[in-house]
Formats: sequence, C-alpha cells, structure tokens
Amino acid sequence: MPYQGQKASKGGHADLIRNPDVEAFLNDCVYMREPSDDEGAAIASQFLSAPKGSGLPNCVVASDASPYSDPISNRFPSTQVGYVKVSLIAFDMNNFKGLIEAGSSLIDPFKVAAFHRDAEAVSFTLPGSNVRYKGAKTVKDGFRLAVYEQLSHDRTSFGAQGITAKDTLLSIEDGKIEIDKCPACGAKHAFEFDPKHEQIQCPACSQIAYVTDYMRIHEQISDYGDNSAAITRFMNAAEHLLVATLVKTLADSNLTQLSSMAFIIDGPLALFGQPAKVHSPLMRFYHTVSDILSKKGYEPPLLIGLQKEGQVMEHARSLDRFLKPNTFRVIDDDYRARYINGGPTQLDNFGHETYYGQDFILKTESGRIFTVGIPYPFPDKTNRSVFAKQKSDISRYAPWLGRAFDLVRHLEFDLYESAVVPVALAHRHASISLVPGGKMLDLLTKKHVGNQT
Ligand SMILES: [Zn+2]
Repeated sequence: MPYQGQKASKGGHADLIRNPDVEAFLNDCVYMREPSDDEGAAIASQFLSAPKGSGLPNCVVASDASPYSDPISNRFPSTQVGYVKVSLIAFDMNNFKGLIEAGSSLIDPFKVAAFHRDAEAVSFTLPGSNVRYKGAKTVKDGFRLAVYEQLSHDRTSFGAQGITAKDTLLSIEDGKIEIDKCPACGAKHAFEFDPKHEQIQCPACSQIAYVTDYMRIHEQISDYGDNSAAITRFMNAAEHLLVATLVKTLADSNLTQLSSMAFIIDGPLALFGQPAKVHSPLMRFYHTVSDILSKKGYEPPLLIGLQKEGQVMEHARSLDRFLKPNTFRVIDDDYRARYINGGPTQLDNFGHETYYGQDFILKTESGRIFTVGIPYPFPDKTNRSVFAKQKSDISRYAPWLGRAFDLVRHLEFDLYESAVVPVALAHRHASISLVPGGKMLDLLTKKHVGNQT
C-alpha cells in the first residue's frame, strides 16, 4: 500500500473512465460516491458522542497474518508452495508508555525489538499448484491432509497441553462436525466427526476425509491453476481460529487473566469464502465466554476487529471533513445500504453468512478514523429480520463499546494511517520476522502473575 501523500500515476485510469462505453456502463450502476456538502452534513449529524470506558486492559494481544505463494523453482513457475504466517503479539499495557518517544509520534525501534520477542509466530506450509503432498492422488487431497495436519499441530496451541486450532474448531461446534459428501470423490455419505473420529475413510473411494474438510477450503484447489485464493482463505480461517484457541485456552485456565485482556484482529470480524460458515460457531463461542465471565462477576474480555481498508473505511474517510472529533456511528444495514453500498438495496441482514461482529465508525479526539468491529452480543442469528434490527442496538454493546474506543484512543499513532500500535507491530512481525517466539501462554502467565487477585 502506498504511504499517505504518495500517489500512483492516474493516467491510465482517467482514460478508462472517459471511455464512452465505460461511462455509459457506469451510468447504469450504483456505487459509492463522494458525499456532497449537504449529504456529508446530514450523515455527520447522525453521529453520536463516543462513549468512554471503565479502564484499559492489562494486556493486548494483536494478530496479523500474511500469505505467500511462491514457485519452488523459477524454471517451473506453476509449481508452487503456499506459506501462511500468523503472528500474535502480546502487549503489556504497562510497557506501552515507554514505547513512543517523548514529544514525537515515532516508535523507539529498540523497544519494538523487545516487543517482537513477546510474539508468537505460527507458520503453516501448504501445497500450492502442481504439488502433491505425501503421495496424495491429487493436489486437492494433499491439500486437505496438509490443512488437517497443520491445524492439528502443537504449534497452534498455547501452553504445554493446550488445545490446537483443530480442537478449537471441534469444540466450538460442540464436539460434533458432520459433512454429507466425500471431499475426495463427492459420493453421498454421512461423515460424523468427533474428537475420537477426526479421520474417516470414504466407503466409496477409500480416501480419508478429515474433520477440517468441513471448512471446504480445498474446494478452491485445482491441480494446475493458481491456488493463492485458497491459501488466503486458509489464512483468514487460521487467524480467527488461533485467536479463538488462545481465548479458549485462557477461558479454561484463567478467567481473571482473560477478563483483563483485549484481542485485536486485523480486519472485520468475519470469515469469507468456503470457510465462512465457521463465523457462526465463533459468534456463539464468544457469546458463551462473555456470558460465563459476566455470570462469575468478571468483566467480559474485549475482542476487536480493526479495519484498515475496505468499503467502510473508504466511506468513513470520505466523511472525514464533516465529522466532529470524538464521534461514532453504528453501521446498521440501512446506513450501509444507503451510504456505503451506493443506494437502497434489498439487503436482508448484511453479513448473514460471514460476519460475527458489528462495525462501528469512530473518529477519535485527535481526528483519526477507525472502523471498529465488536462481536455480536447474541448466540446466533435465528430470526434474521429481528436479528438485523437487534444487532445495531447500541445499548447492547455497552459492556464493550467505551472500553474498545478507549483502547483505540490509547493505542492510535501516526506511523500508519488508521493503525494502532499492536496491530502495526504484529503486521511487521507477520511480514518480516521469521523467528519463532516463545509459548504465548507461558509468557502471559509470567507477565500477569502479579496482577491476579
Ligand atoms: Zn470418496
């Protein structure tokens, strides 16, 4: 992404837009436009004063992930291996003060290096196009095996006897996962997975179906084509599953600590493409965790999806000059249809198949704009039209909203537009450093042992 103020050449773009065919075509389309002064003022008048919370978490864990798809040899560019790196950075809020150099918005690189030692990088290697893993009959079958192995690996667990990302997937589905046809040959068969049966042989083709096939990421794999889309879907699912694995590990072992933590995911609280359906058990899982903590008298942990780009951010930036500092708005379906998707649509619960969190636009006191996602405070979306209304009722987000905004206010900085420090660090970690960190849970336990009551 180019830095602010740095613009790519617009020559080719202008020619295209002036092309009469393209112009005529665009006249038949609805799309997001720059708001007029009247529109901007009208939209801004719907923004409310942003609430404050009860205090900051003790510890923030931020995640970020990067996918890579590279030829194994330059002589065979279509023979590729996929590589995904998910980084989780644990960020002790007591250490935050010293991170930014006094009197500037720059970050002290030596202190950043220290934070990178508190990171856990989980990397996954997958077969790309034209690579058959462990003698599988097809690239797709090898990919399925690799997904199962990688998500079952100890690397995806936190602490010595921790659950793995695959265990989390089973657990949030209440220990039972079913698929109704063979992922290898397509034959109809009821595959019923549970913790004791994670691999089931297909009676028709004798190939093995794995519990992780349920996410259907392999369906995008072709023997010779470009498989980078499947690698990106895997990355998306792995990142959300890893954060859930850490939350589950803490929920099972240390509620005090979990209650004092915040988790920041880079991007919306949503899963797209084939694994999208996992959004629904994730939504139920976070709701259950919050419920358990609330019932025991703890504050529920904070989970935030922060978006740096995408439609909502582009819309929010186009509003910047109209918005007062320290204001926010919930992006309800009506608002999204009218102002973000370019006009009224037949939208029937936006993100029904993908989102497990609600988006809010926040403009901070210092004038920076963020899109903040917070998990829907409901176990499920049954009764779609009722849910579409309820999900944008701000009062239901009271336990999180002020705290989430406080955290963003506290962590915002200038280095990257609309980034907060931990996410920027996790991003750097995910994209540059390949040094694996220690075990996240040991680290958190060591750090916060003094804070427990
Ligand atoms: Zn089969």
